[in-house]
Amino acid sequence: MVSIATLGIHGANEHLRVSDVTPPINISTTYRYDSDPAKLKKASEIEGLGEDVVYSRLSHHTGILVEETIGAITKSHAVIYSSGLGAFNAAMVHLNPKKLFIGQAYHGCHGIADILTRNYGLKQLPLDALDQLAEGDVIHIETPVNPNSWCFDIKHFADIAHAKGAKLLVDSTFAPLQDAFEFGADMVMHSATKYFGGHSDLLAGLLLTKDPEVKKCLQLDRIYLGTNIGNLEASLLFRSLKTFELRVRKQSESATAIVNYLVENKSSLKALEEVHHSSLQTEDFVAKQLNGCHSPTFSIIVDSEETARRLPSRLKYFFHATSLGGAESLIEWRCMSDTTAPPGLLRISVGLENVEELIEDLSQALSQ
Ligand SMILES: *Cc1c(COP(=O)(O)O)cnc(C)c1O
Repeated sequence: MVSIATLGIHGANEHLRVSDVTPPINISTTYRYDSDPAKLKKASEIEGLGEDVVYSRLSHHTGILVEETIGAITKSHAVIYSSGLGAFNAAMVHLNPKKLFIGQAYHGCHGIADILTRNYGLKQLPLDALDQLAEGDVIHIETPVNPNSWCFDIKHFADIAHAKGAKLLVDSTFAPLQDAFEFGADMVMHSATKYFGGHSDLLAGLLLTKDPEVKKCLQLDRIYLGTNIGNLEASLLFRSLKTFELRVRKQSESATAIVNYLVENKSSLKALEEVHHSSLQTEDFVAKQLNGCHSPTFSIIVDSEETARRLPSRLKYFFHATSLGGAESLIEWRCMSDTTAPPGLLRISVGLENVEELIEDLSQALSQ
């Protein structure tokens, strides 16, 4: 089996159209039809989106390169969207559950579920109400979960879903190298804005499926949802895939090293009260699911709201900003963007800087 590192660079080679090593940035919204009249087809004769591009809202060359590369590295079929929430919305439209079982998850996924409840009466239930699960329902879990990076047991939820004819959707954004299909997920989503993009310069979302027919349906729905990725963003994302594994492994290693340091030196770090990260979980399933690659994002709780408000301003190498997954380390006083976050919580997305320098920076800020 070819590795992720190699496939991130060569996974779509057979779809390259020109001799350029880096494919040209393609900005056309529309494409000339075949000049041979005999080859022209009526819309009713076309099934599925092939490689013949017509109009960029349907598909475009760079989007195809991205989907083929990501399909190869995730051993699945990938459909790309203009944002992570575009992908979650598309999953809801495709799966169309009567009941959605959803626990702690990205606030925007709850926001979409609330719109569906308001408009169409979607019933939302918590993960401890799975005795009410029925055929066609959907369980949505995010693992590791924002902002603490704690893991849920994918197989546990997959077994419950499948026993009732329901489906399991997994938001795998915080563990981009995790293979949720191996543990029974039916569909996987990512905010590709985060680790797949990796440079804080593009918005994108992904749905992954093992079923090529599902991919076809999702692509046809996407035409009418109007949520294909833009041409320019697709070019940026295609570039990012070449360093995907390298970045994520390094960021994960650094995050785990920083978490270790914080836990071991807690007594000398006056402001630090709690550290939350998947590497601090001891259940067996955690190591199996993450396969040696813990979430590159974690959270800490400091001694007061005032400390949480001030701490980002004491740091040299962590930008105070929301989001995660980029080359730049970020820290966020989380209650600025999430109404459910406790006032002392700071979320930290570890970037690609030297880990010793990041530790030194955090350590001086937490000891003040
Ligand atoms: C950011 C994020 C999303 C939403 O992705 P966008 O690309 O911002 O739309 C969904 N889930 C998780 C876990 C996220 O971190």
